[in-house]
Amino acid sequence: MQLPREVIVGVNILDRVGDICTKLGFRGTALVVSGPVTYPLAGVGVAKSAAKAGLHVDHVIVKESTEAVVNRVIEAIKKARPAVVLAVGGRKDIDVAKLSSAKASVPFMSIPTAASHDGIASPYASIKGGQKPYSIRAQAPIAIIGDIGVIADSPYGLLAAGCGDIVAKFSAVKDWQLAHKLKNEYYGDYAAELALMSAELVTRNSKEIIARSREGVRTVVEALISCGVAMSIAGSSRPCSGAEHLFSHALDIVAGDTSLHGGRTGVGAIMCAYLHGSNWESIREFLQQIGAPSTAKELNVSPEQVVKALTMAHSLRPERYTILGETGVTEAAAEKVARATGVIG
Ligand SMILES: [Zn+2]
Repeated sequence: MQLPREVIVGVNILDRVGDICTKLGFRGTALVVSGPVTYPLAGVGVAKSAAKAGLHVDHVIVKESTEAVVNRVIEAIKKARPAVVLAVGGRKDIDVAKLSSAKASVPFMSIPTAASHDGIASPYASIKGGQKPYSIRAQAPIAIIGDIGVIADSPYGLLAAGCGDIVAKFSAVKDWQLAHKLKNEYYGDYAAELALMSAELVTRNSKEIIARSREGVRTVVEALISCGVAMSIAGSSRPCSGAEHLFSHALDIVAGDTSLHGGRTGVGAIMCAYLHGSNWESIREFLQQIGAPSTAKELNVSPEQVVKALTMAHSLRPERYTILGETGVTEAAAEKVARATGVIG
């Protein structure tokens, strides 16, 4: 079980990165991995803080999360030989930094600029163009620095997507329970409850989230961190990723990059909760309330693409048993689910 050693969530805390590096015993070089937008926004501040703590700081800018970019960052790590990789940015930046640092056996610190996904604390990374269309194991961050001010200033759609990734845990845990019953798969109560608690806390705080108050943003950030920790405890992404994630990965294949991961898993959670016979209405209501996608149209995909993704989702990861079963749903059934839940009109 790999867990972060330091988790700090607060306002204007980027300048504490240097102190955390000192506390964790990092000396020599730190390598900042960041994006073209997030580097000037937060990466520079992080680099300054690390330099103030006596570290030599290099940086590398990443624009996408592909295997080629991961390899480029591994080369940069080999050249700079950093004691720590400082991942500053959104989902792509953190995923690339996480996987490349893991492959190069260097610890990494997660410094998210947005709360759009649970990868900010999880040991899993999602990389495009690999052999697997879903997240692969990398390493958990050694520390997480969640600056509420920076995250609150990011586009609201990112925060809403983060909520979609969090309510996905309602259906993910149902799938895990099902796999436990039908396939005798290991089931961890603690990890499952932690993921569920995060989903419940977020749905109870919709007003604060819509208002983008510090409490609202903090609730989402803490929920995402708890989900990441739940995966570390479970030793797999099971508590956080079920059929709704398979649907999201299938949509990536069918429709490409037309909407955010969190938005897609939220819509997937509505349909999968329906299939489970659980309270899909409350998931949809919450997503609508906070302005997260709840329809195909809001995901910028066609009804046909939703149906196609639902029918192929089960095949992406045969070892992950879910409500979709071993043979998946038929086209007619998929269309029925999508219509009944209002995902397609
Ligand atoms: Zn996710």
